[in-house]
Amino acid sequence: VKLREIGEFGFIDRIAAGAVPADPSRVLQGIGDDASVVRPSAGLLLVTTDLMVERVHFLRDSITMYQLGRKSVAISLSDIAAMGGVPHDLYVSIAVPEDLQVEELDELYRGMKEIAREAGVDLLGGDTTGSRQDLVINTTVTGSAAPDEVIYRHGARPGDRILVTGTLGDSAGGLRIVLESLRLPDEIAAPLLKAHCDPELYLREARLLAVSGRVHSGIDLSDGLASDLGHICRASNVGAVLESGRVPVSAELKRLCEIAGGDPLELALSGGEDYRLLVTVDPDAADALADEIRRATGRTPHAIGRIVEGEDIFLETPDGRLDPLRLRGYDHFKR
Ligand SMILES: [Mg+2]
Repeated sequence: VKLREIGEFGFIDRIAAGAVPADPSRVLQGIGDDASVVRPSAGLLLVTTDLMVERVHFLRDSITMYQLGRKSVAISLSDIAAMGGVPHDLYVSIAVPEDLQVEELDELYRGMKEIAREAGVDLLGGDTTGSRQDLVINTTVTGSAAPDEVIYRHGARPGDRILVTGTLGDSAGGLRIVLESLRLPDEIAAPLLKAHCDPELYLREARLLAVSGRVHSGIDLSDGLASDLGHICRASNVGAVLESGRVPVSAELKRLCEIAGGDPLELALSGGEDYRLLVTVDPDAADALADEIRRATGRTPHAIGRIVEGEDIFLETPDGRLDPLRLRGYDHFKR
């Protein structure tokens, strides 16, 4: 079925179906009026927005519509997590090319609604329009946090331990499988493709970190570890040392590189779209925080280095040698 057969209002009816706000005393009006009406929550309001453009951010034939729906919402939820916030509301605007079937849009929105439900977020509105060729998806997520809980990029201090919430480079490995049409055993390919098409979220970890009072700065890893740690360092006027032996790399990514070539560490440092959280924490609190998160979520944050004075980022080899990160050529991988 083509979109023009059901029309814009028929399409909006399909989106609205099943998008009933969980708490009517908080959300007085969702989809269906000129604007949503929401009772403000306590604390500070967080707002983030992301744009996903076909052929720039994704290829329609290398991700399912369901996964694309999940991922387009996940990247905004990840930004709220990076700020230490609780996510509340989702707005989705979409430009739909003529060749896209209504059934594909249903799958896209099924993915969006499912991840929204998992995160406790209500889909409250957006806009729909046509597009000549490419599918364009804009997601906006609001959230909140108490003033003393918000985790900014600035605030890192020399001596801080650097923690990341999961393995790095898996999404870049999944992208390689897609772009190079690699044939790999399913037990290797599946988790890497999942990391690329349907990244995990760290909303519970974010809240535990935020309320601990021991986190000095944070970011979610969208551009790659080296690049995103650079954002923290610039915003905080500090440098950093990454300990290469501690950068967590999955067994699947190692196997991919054994089979198809490449260096797992390089993918971990330069690969984008991991959507793990990176935080810098009081060194006295790092171990206890990591333990607390492991007990609460079953997922263990990894300590991968430390914040230092200065402005440069170094990679420390296991024998203690310091190499400047930007001389190693990772900038070549910048998007
Ligand atoms: Mg971000």
